[in-house]
Amino acid sequence: MLGYDRAFLCQRNGDGSIRVYFAQRRDEDPNRTAGATFRDPGFIRGELDREFQEWSPRMRGILDEVDTGFIWWPLYTVPVRQHWRRHTGLTLIGDAAHVMSPFTGQGVNMGLLDALELVTALTSAEHADVNAAINAYEASTLARMEEAVTATNTAQDILLSPEGPGVLLAMVSGDKSRQSIGGRP
Ligand SMILES: Cc1cc2nc3c(=O)[nH]c(=O)nc-3n(C[C@H](O)[C@H](O)[C@H](O)COP(=O)(O)OP(=O)(O)OC[C@H]3O[C@@H](n4cnc5c(N)ncnc54)[C@H](O)[C@@H]3O)c2cc1C
Repeated sequence: MLGYDRAFLCQRNGDGSIRVYFAQRRDEDPNRTAGATFRDPGFIRGELDREFQEWSPRMRGILDEVDTGFIWWPLYTVPVRQHWRRHTGLTLIGDAAHVMSPFTGQGVNMGLLDALELVTALTSAEHADVNAAINAYEASTLARMEEAVTATNTAQDILLSPEGPGVLLAMVSGDKSRQSIGGRP
């Protein structure tokens, strides 16, 4: 359910439960003063009631169906193109290297691929030493992540659009004139 920088995203899980994400764009809280409330389900529920008050009561009814409480989950992303300074004998994999929004469901897949590529490089006779192996791994992951971060940013802009479901509907209907995202082509 998509609408105006907001969404309800429901995901059926293997155990038959349904996880619901109530998503919205929010300005960053530069002082992190809201941090203390992140773990307060009552506060989060109040925020959701306020943010989604204009939505249909039928949809808002999902909020009353939640039987596990609410978790506040700010999402962040690295820039599409990263440049790392070299550090001898040290590198990063997974979210530490390239945290991104989850809208393509690729975060942990990329992390696992990092692990595979790094161990392959470290055990390969191709590289003269550990640092050469790390350099090869980093060149590969940073190039790969440009595409992955761009893809999830695009999916995020489609799902959390100021035009509500307009961009997604235009894509489904093939209406190219309305397939811009946030004013961008
Ligand atoms: C809502 C949501 C949905 C997602 N859905 C998908 C999906 O469908 N498919 C997919 O592939 N990915 C998905 N992801 C992304 C995926 O969850 C992450 O990419 C993945 O968990 C990253 O794994 P990681 O081990 O790199 O980091 P993390 O899972 O963050 O693990 C890091 C660990 O280090 C610990 N830690 C931090 N600091 C310290 C410290 N100083 N000392 C010791 N320990 C420390 C943390 O507590 C944590 O346990 C989703 C993410 C979110 C937020």
